[in-house]
Amino acid sequence: MRLWIILLLLVTAGFSFTTLRDSLYPTDYFRAPVGTAVRLSGTFGELRPNHFHAGIDIKGSVGDPLYAAAEGYVYRIKVEPGGYGKSLAINHPNGYTTIYAHMDKFTPEIEAFVKNYQYEQQQFEVEIFPEADKFYFQKGEKIGAIGLTGASMGPHLHFEVRHTRTETPVNPLLFGFGVADTRPPRMHQVKIYHLDKNQREISSQTFNLAGAGKNYGIKGDTVFLASGRAGFALKAYDHMDGVHNWNGIYSLEMRQDDSLLYRFEMERVSFEETRYLNAHVDYEEKVSRQSYFNRCFLLPGNELSIYTQAVNRGIVELKDGKKAARMAFIARDLAGNESKLEFWVKHKPGPLPAKKEAYNYFLPYNEESIIQDYSLLLHFPKGTFYEDLLLQYESSQDESSDIYSSVHHLHNSKTPVHQYFDISIRPVTLSEALKDKAFIAHCDEHNRVTSFGGVWENDLLRASVRELGDYCIMVDTVPPTITPVAFKPNMRGMEHMSFRIRDNFRTARNVQG
Ligand SMILES: [Zn+2]
Repeated sequence: MRLWIILLLLVTAGFSFTTLRDSLYPTDYFRAPVGTAVRLSGTFGELRPNHFHAGIDIKGSVGDPLYAAAEGYVYRIKVEPGGYGKSLAINHPNGYTTIYAHMDKFTPEIEAFVKNYQYEQQQFEVEIFPEADKFYFQKGEKIGAIGLTGASMGPHLHFEVRHTRTETPVNPLLFGFGVADTRPPRMHQVKIYHLDKNQREISSQTFNLAGAGKNYGIKGDTVFLASGRAGFALKAYDHMDGVHNWNGIYSLEMRQDDSLLYRFEMERVSFEETRYLNAHVDYEEKVSRQSYFNRCFLLPGNELSIYTQAVNRGIVELKDGKKAARMAFIARDLAGNESKLEFWVKHKPGPLPAKKEAYNYFLPYNEESIIQDYSLLLHFPKGTFYEDLLLQYESSQDESSDIYSSVHHLHNSKTPVHQYFDISIRPVTLSEALKDKAFIAHCDEHNRVTSFGGVWENDLLRASVRELGDYCIMVDTVPPTITPVAFKPNMRGMEHMSFRIRDNFRTARNVQG
């Protein structure tokens, strides 16, 4: 009797799970926004600089027609020189919004409407929210054409599905779209971290993987770990039929002796959390080698919601002298293809490579920190870092004529910074006349200078920055230059004019005062 009840419960639970998923992501609601087979040069959740990719990139040529994925009204029209370029957002009655970016052209009606608005505002960059009944499309109606406007390397459609109420991007492939994919993800390298009792990295080792197709291993089969506490990270990409692109995987799980310790799923990632990518990846690998490793253990300050399992935050504990543990990593795409990496780890207590930890300041990740001396004031709000930081700091003099302070060396740029912190620097010799031309400069290892602007406060120049590294005060007395590229005094017969604007320093995007 009791067994029947349990079975019934299990059947009901299974049933309600599938129906819940079907109602969340109906696979027959949207059609493909292009007229050809959907071939992807980018997937949802793909690891990109400072963010997870919020949509899918569909291949196409400039001018290829684009269609409304379902019926709905144009909620937003945006034209910007960078970013999404020309883009449309359509709200659908089922609670989702679709976004079409890097478009070449809208429909003639929308084009005329936008042009009119641009003239009215006397600016190119516009964001318009038309009335709900102004532009209404039926499913499959033409909305414009594929292009390469905005920050686009080549012609493609950047397509997003967002939950309308929260604006959270959802993986479009959950809704179907019939992407041909019979190939499993490919695994490249695994990185193993020795962790101390505070879960800080002592050292790490990277292993190339042997194998191909669906099964991978490492040479020698067993890894001996001097530390009984380890973290893992995996470099893996998905590949699809008929394209050469390295796309992102949908999920990755890690098992120790068959028990599931860790799993992420790229189902949805909100814009508020997307920068935690820098905690998910091995940031140093990204900065030093342009290599994206998925960490299978969570740094203390990592608040991403993509993890559907994280026992002990993914940190593997090994008892010494006991038999080896079997580690398995399974990567999947949304078409159901999977590949697996398996090897053994054994705890063999021994001397651990000593980590050089010369530092001046201890900054806990979950508290605010202030560092102050005569020439420098630093204010790190709580949550600036993903883990406790042993900050190395020193200052030096630079005799360059355009540097007006000591150069402050804040640790190094290989440590990720989640949010803005304030840096205030006291100038050494700066005349009143130059004060309003001074700015906080970040200088990278290639001597490239980025300006963060700055405001004066008690004789210190303050700016908000989001990177560690070398900072000083510089002065910009050279105005930007404007060179005509396509411009004649008589513009008759010319379709457009263009100019190149150059400045001697790069300005940080999103400068905050
Ligand atoms: Zn994209």
